[in-house]
Amino acid sequence: MTNKFTTTDDNSQKAAARNDGGFFSGARASSCRSLYVHVPFCERKCNYCAFESAPPRAGDFELYLASLKKELALRRAELGRLTLGTCYIGGGTPTALPPLAWDELIETLEEFFDFVPEAEVTVEANPNSLRAEHLLAWREWRVTRVSVGVQSFDGAELEMMGRLHGAAQAHEALSAALAAGFAVSADFIFGLPHQSLENWARTLREAVRCGLSHISLYQLSLEEGTPWGNLPHDVLPDGYAQYRWAQWYLPRHGYEQYEIANFARAGRESRHNLNYWRDGEYLGIGPGAASYINGARMKNSGLLREYAAALDAGRLPIRESERLDAEARGREAAVLALRTAAGIERAEFAREYGVAALSRVERIMSGFPKNLYESDERGIRLTKSGMRVANLIWEELV
Ligand code: SF4
Repeated sequence: MTNKFTTTDDNSQKAAARNDGGFFSGARASSCRSLYVHVPFCERKCNYCAFESAPPRAGDFELYLASLKKELALRRAELGRLTLGTCYIGGGTPTALPPLAWDELIETLEEFFDFVPEAEVTVEANPNSLRAEHLLAWREWRVTRVSVGVQSFDGAELEMMGRLHGAAQAHEALSAALAAGFAVSADFIFGLPHQSLENWARTLREAVRCGLSHISLYQLSLEEGTPWGNLPHDVLPDGYAQYRWAQWYLPRHGYEQYEIANFARAGRESRHNLNYWRDGEYLGIGPGAASYINGARMKNSGLLREYAAALDAGRLPIRESERLDAEARGREAAVLALRTAAGIERAEFAREYGVAALSRVERIMSGFPKNLYESDERGIRLTKSGMRVANLIWEELV
């Protein structure tokens, strides 16, 4: 999914070109406790999607799983064996992997990582490819959350987007994941061509009725190179009004907005994503995955064959990388923290990024109208109004 707000992945994937098998040198025994696994397959591309994924060809699952093991062996040689507090398996479409491939993926992850007992393990699922066997395998392993790509409960909207499922199948997938005992999250897209506020409201009302513990909302953006890349902007509705409605409606039904695009029932926030927004380290594996370790951002090659070829040659498949200086880290950390309802905590931010970085944020924020943010002794945070115009604020802060 894409949105007009800066996504976690977008933040983690800003990088300068470099191809270096020894990037982590000196990073042994990293304190990184978050893992992202990218599954680069989708049965068919949705009309709006610019994510790193493609329909699988014969032999691709085997190539992917074998390459993943090679990447993990190289990562372990550099980082040591990591103990994970969170693991997020996303894509792409993780449920495009058949159950047998899942067994192998689980075995591989167990071979290379330790998990803390209360680890949060999330898997993304698409309604058309989620099978009972997937749920069983995840249940028997250590999955705690399932995040379903629903996008809409309107059949015509789903068809227009090129999704492979209808509304009934989306309901079935959510019910099955809930019945299997997982905390269930679902993604929805607003700002679709010609989408009325009424249709958007209807989708969210249905979402609330489903018993989800977490809801993510993304505004459509027209991405170059996708079938919708050249759509005229005047077919898009007023996303501001739709977003504002969600901000009003969801908290009234028990979903607090804890981040620009995310709402959760109490205690059901995504710990994995909170780690991104708190500027925490993470290791990303698989084609197109991004990592952030020891102040360096890296992104893997997005094409399966390119990714596999680098690993065959004994190299990490890093396509881009960038080491951030202290000032850049402070700038990025400010934007990431302000995405969350908790915002920037003054003392912690000054300790980590310096008093000058905090003063810079204060100076920039003071140029915005007072209804867009709150500033007190404890910290600085965007109000709901501020979250609606966050992109304008990021332009000044970055
Ligand atoms: S299922 Fe998700 S990742 Fe795959 S093409 Fe559609 S939006 Fe993109």
